[in-house]
Amino acid sequence: SSLLDDECDYLFKTVLIGDSAVGKSNLLSRFAKDEFHLDSKPTIGVEFAYRNIKVGDKMVKAQIWDTAGQERVTFENLRKWLHELREYGNRDMVIVLVGNKTDLVESREVEVRDGQSLAQVEDLCFMETSAKENLNVEDAFLQMITKIFEIAS
Ligand code: GDP
Ligand code: MG
Repeated sequence: SSLLDDECDYLFKTVLIGDSAVGKSNLLSRFAKDEFHLDSKPTIGVEFAYRNIKVGDKMVKAQIWDTAGQERVTFENLRKWLHELREYGNRDMVIVLVGNKTDLVESREVEVRDGQSLAQVEDLCFMETSAKENLNVEDAFLQMITKIFEIAS
């Protein structure tokens, strides 16, 4: 691909999907720019960012697409999302389930074990994050990139 410059061995395309206001744009800005915005505006259409990451001795360019979630898609609807992904997505696709906003301890809506068991049943990676407090954000993206790397290399 023309996007793949001289310094990079791989280009991985990834996309953030899910309910609006769950924190997709802030997960991306935290990972790509180490920025968090309390009053982030809703994403219009799609936006994307890049980050170069070293995996082993290879340089990976991660292209991360951010989407505008129009509908309210809750944890209950994740199975529907997964069905769509598997029907229309790439066969080699890696899916990471992310539960964000762990800092909001008092208003937790999904128990850790429920996230874990869905991930197990659906064969996904699972991570709980806080874009606000920068907890596990790096790990969630790195887990995804490492998994793609294992498939691609
Ligand atoms: P998106 O619609 O999924 O892209 O969600 P945004 O990234 O725009 O975030 C929606 C709102 O949630 C914004 O007010 C963010 O500041 C807030 N937000 C995002 N991530 C976190 C987080 O980890 N913790 C807390 N407390 N708020 C967050
Ligand atoms: Mg957004």
